Amino acid sequence: MSDIEIAQANEATEMKPITEIGAMVGLSADDLELYGKSKAKLTLAALKRLRQQPQGKLVLVTSINPTPAGEGKSTVTIGLGDALRLRGQNAVIALREPSLGPVMGMKGGATGGGYAQVVPMEDINLHFTGDMHALTTAVDTLAALIDNHLQQGNALNIDPRRILWRRVLDINDRALRHVTIGLGGVTSGVPRETEFDITVASELMAILCLAEDLADLKARIARIVIGYTYDRTPVTVADLGVTGAIAMLLRDAIKPNLVQTLAHTPTLIHGGPFANIAHGCNSILATRTALALGDIAITEAGFGADLGGEKFMDITAPALGKTPDVVVIVATVRALKYNGGQKLATLTEENRPALQAGFGNLKRHIHNMKRYGVPVVVAINEFATDTEAELNDLISLCEAAGATAVRANVWGEGGHGGLALADAVSTALQQPADFTPLYDNAAAPKAKIETIVQQIYGGRDVVYDHKAELALKTIAKNGWDQLPICMAKTQYSFSDDAKALGAPSDFTIHVRDVVPRLGAGFLVVMTGSVLTMPGLPKQPAALNMDVSDDGVISGLF
Ligand code: ADP
Repeated sequence: MSDIEIAQANEATEMKPITEIGAMVGLSADDLELYGKSKAKLTLAALKRLRQQPQGKLVLVTSINPTPAGEGKSTVTIGLGDALRLRGQNAVIALREPSLGPVMGMKGGATGGGYAQVVPMEDINLHFTGDMHALTTAVDTLAALIDNHLQQGNALNIDPRRILWRRVLDINDRALRHVTIGLGGVTSGVPRETEFDITVASELMAILCLAEDLADLKARIARIVIGYTYDRTPVTVADLGVTGAIAMLLRDAIKPNLVQTLAHTPTLIHGGPFANIAHGCNSILATRTALALGDIAITEAGFGADLGGEKFMDITAPALGKTPDVVVIVATVRALKYNGGQKLATLTEENRPALQAGFGNLKRHIHNMKRYGVPVVVAINEFATDTEAELNDLISLCEAAGATAVRANVWGEGGHGGLALADAVSTALQQPADFTPLYDNAAAPKAKIETIVQQIYGGRDVVYDHKAELALKTIAKNGWDQLPICMAKTQYSFSDDAKALGAPSDFTIHVRDVVPRLGAGFLVVMTGSVLTMPGLPKQPAALNMDVSDDGVISGLF
């Protein structure tokens, strides 16, 4: 059965009312705002109360660099939550919300797979509770207000060529990457060039995911630098006087959403910045809620541990006020063989030398995550085509690299296939975690970037385009250089070359630009040719999607 067929069968017969799921973790009906029977948001009052609760332990799930072979990070995160519950532990999951861009493009659904999924799968993958809509609208409202300011006399003296704020859409639409707006004469605005990003790359998405509450959301929105004046003075949302309007549009989007897994594990799904072009973790409000409601909170960071994992440690954890107690790195035999040079079409064939060759990728991620002083467990997400010899090789290789590795078949068996992983995680949770940050925020931006490139990526040096050098000067002049770094880099490689698989070393990272994101509180470092508005592939996943006359959806994987 396909993922969606498994989910639909569960939704029809087994899915519980969301109030029952809330009650499992002590949430009353008054704590929930219902969006139908199976989805709810937590009220602001409930969030405030939970802030006072003691926190559980935190498990961060990350992975090797993604490949077309698929790693199954969300699947393992969900299966681990279900398995911990089968072992009698009060586990609560926190995940990101899917973006429609990749759903329609390459990826299909982002709600796990097989017997480790969250439901209602179609709703979560499509419009869910409207958070993406609210974010898109808020970003574009601010853009419209900026252009209206230019049109109405430009009292702030904003230089139309130095506006940083861009419009967004939650669709992969390459045609909107570079556009000219304001054409059509004096009543149609001030003509200028601009760009569209995908919603999940916007600063507002990052802000939503890092904000503590509505007051902090407003303070962060007020700080957003939308551009510069003709004399290069930064202009903020507060200067425009529209902080309240933008925050108002996000009043409901800031509340985490509660759903359930196929096995009824309470799951918060909230916020979804991509990890290659943003910081890649669900909202801190969702993770905090999971920590308050559960004894163990399991959260996932996007793409590989070089991106989402590093950003969780250096950006999210300080905002959350809690560092992970255990890191789980998801790997597959297939993906490691692909990293070791085996072709996609032949990945079902046994190839132990390719596995050995590709292991370097996982080895570096193990080393990197251990470097933070947190116990590491490797979850081998089993595929039906993995051979016993390959699986045993991988376990030995991990052990030699100093990490416990456990097989998990949550895709095929749900939580029952993840019991060994749950036990390994429980054991690791007993070990002391002694968190050591990667860099000191007081260091200069170039020093922080170099630390990430050398210590996490395994690169040698960094070169800066003229534009990036100028941006760094502006950052220094305005005193923004003590902010953490959010690297924008391809997810496929440790380097900025998507084709350099495995564990490349001694490479150079090319920095094109550095963008201050004062509301989010980090500097985005654009490397290589990474794009903030993806395109659709030759055969978009959309080609397989349909809805029947009686409303049944198919093709969301
Ligand atoms: P990620 O979070 O790493 O992007 P997902 O968990 O979303 O990956 O899984 C991607 C796809 O791979 C899903 O369609 C899922 O059903 C499939 N998948 C994951 N694990 C397995 C497995 N062990 N066997 C077969 N398919 C799997």
